[in-house]
Amino acid sequence: MATEYERVTLVDHPMVQHKLSILRDKDTSSKKFRELIKELALFEGYEATRNLSLADVEVETPLCKTVCKKVSGKKLAIVPILRAGLGMVEGVQELMPAARVGHLGMYRNEETHEPVEYYAKLPEDIANRDVIVVDPMLATGGSATAAIEYLRKRGVGGTINLMVIVAAPVGIECVLDADPDVQIFTCAIDESLNDDAYIVPGLGDAGDRIFGTK
Ligand code: URA
Repeated sequence: MATEYERVTLVDHPMVQHKLSILRDKDTSSKKFRELIKELALFEGYEATRNLSLADVEVETPLCKTVCKKVSGKKLAIVPILRAGLGMVEGVQELMPAARVGHLGMYRNEETHEPVEYYAKLPEDIANRDVIVVDPMLATGGSATAAIEYLRKRGVGGTINLMVIVAAPVGIECVLDADPDVQIFTCAIDESLNDDAYIVPGLGDAGDRIFGTK
């Protein structure tokens, strides 16, 4: 569904909202949390790929030849922001098994506000691909903005879609301001951030809950 932000889509499907409620619950196990993150990424992937171009193809069914549609246009890359973004990769890959996966470790230096890339391994032809950046939590927007800026510097001129599970308004505004073309997909827009930059009500530390590190 459309939101007050022009380039933000809220995935408000009842099954998505149901799964998100279980994800938020502090008593949900790490195993269940991982399963839900994967499922939500798959559902969101449908929305994030809604505008892919299609081309006619001839298919022979058991009865006759017919003209059908296949996805055409630029190839795709999925780029998780380390580490929590890893939890969403499998879900998106289920939808697009041929997509290449790049990995980006990014954070924003709190003093200089400059993006710091501590790890990057991207497909060689990343500049010629449309990109879906995945990270469950869009809090301040620092690392997502840094990742998108890095991808633009690496020559990505086409579509960059950012898929998150929960977003805070401040993070959304930060990303939209930083890139005039990026589209954001989220399952929830929460109220605010607390003093530690956690999203409220949120779901806690997504990385810790995925990997069981707390
Ligand atoms: N990262 C998280 O994992 N959770 C938040 O609430 C904010 C950032």
